[in-house]
Amino acid sequence: MSQGPSQTLTNVSSAVDPLRACVHCGLCLEACPTYRLTGDENNSPRGRLLLWRAIDEGRLQADTYTDFYTDECVGCLACESVCPADVPYGHNLEIQRQRQVEAERAHLDWRVRAAGVAVKSPAIFNLALAPARLLRSLSLLPHPMVFKGRPALLKSTAEYAADLVAKFNPTGPKVAFLTGCLMEALFREINFATVRVLVENGVRVVVPRGQGCCGAFHEHTGMSGAAELSVTNQQVFRAADVERVVTNSAGCGFALQKALAGDPPVQDVLGFLGTLDVKRQQEREGLYKVYVDLPCHLVHGQKVDGIPDSVLDATGYRWELAPYARDCCGSGGVYNLQKPKNARHILKSKAAFLEKVPKDIVPIVATSNHVCMMQWNTAKTFIRRRFEVRHIVQLLDPASSFDST
Ligand code: SF4
Ligand code: SF4
Repeated sequence: MSQGPSQTLTNVSSAVDPLRACVHCGLCLEACPTYRLTGDENNSPRGRLLLWRAIDEGRLQADTYTDFYTDECVGCLACESVCPADVPYGHNLEIQRQRQVEAERAHLDWRVRAAGVAVKSPAIFNLALAPARLLRSLSLLPHPMVFKGRPALLKSTAEYAADLVAKFNPTGPKVAFLTGCLMEALFREINFATVRVLVENGVRVVVPRGQGCCGAFHEHTGMSGAAELSVTNQQVFRAADVERVVTNSAGCGFALQKALAGDPPVQDVLGFLGTLDVKRQQEREGLYKVYVDLPCHLVHGQKVDGIPDSVLDATGYRWELAPYARDCCGSGGVYNLQKPKNARHILKSKAAFLEKVPKDIVPIVATSNHVCMMQWNTAKTFIRRRFEVRHIVQLLDPASSFDST
């Protein structure tokens, strides 16, 4: 289906044209991973905005040169967090990527194109990835991005949540849960853990049928489909009669926030648990220590400060923020497929601290976005020591202990 005409450059609620809001101060340069990597002004937020503006004003022809710099952007939105002029950089980026697709100039990997079509049909996507779920459940990991875990092969999160709620009859707040595409099709054990933690904390969880992909995939790539998915999700979640929708993947949560526009509100599950008197797990002595990495689309997209200390304390683990926790890990939605060398360089500098953790400690890199987990898992190809990758919600779930995976 066609998404219709692309967005205009002025449909963000701002008195200033989003493409012309930049005051060229340069405060974003050092926040930008691709500028830090290359030192190239065109590979910075300010440089990209200038290129896009020149194209818009007809002073420059969009071509492989300008496309290169658009493609180089990770889409981490770190530039938005430091920008004094509130330039809606992510909005501008989405428009440029849509235009690349519309002009048939997008350089999308075949896997990305195939996934962009497949995620529009959750049933087909779930079926297509059943063999990969089976491999994971057998601890056979077909790719460095695929982290350990034992997903259910057939039972869906919707069925699991209905069973658990019927069994334990929680009486607290009623929320809907977005199960996501890849999370449900490949990393379903994290969805199950999320449901368990919510129910254990008295939350009435519903998983509305008919929900679609959040649309983040299409926003990242410029592929058509985000608008239709938004309409589907508006209908499904507004009919659910819940006080909010919770998500367990920061990128999905950010996209769904934009789609639902507050009706109902969307909140990351860890932030939501922080509003409850979350049940504390028993203290875990010795071996493990948690290093919390914050997803870009949580802190720079959703503009959330971080993950509540009360939630991290409730895991029972020793924890601290990972060095440069607010910096991008290089995952960028599909960036690590599109630009693997850049993504690896960005991750290498973030992951270097793992080599310095004392040998009698097993570091757990814990975050709240499955694509960040996938990216961190690739560090196992160059970090020569044991470390684990976990979703923070799994650390609140005794059934997700390391003995069970
Ligand atoms: S989104 Fe990230 S990679 Fe892209 S320009 Fe902004 S800071 Fe740089
Ligand atoms: S911080 Fe904002 S205003 Fe300053 S150069 Fe970067 S995008 Fe432009």
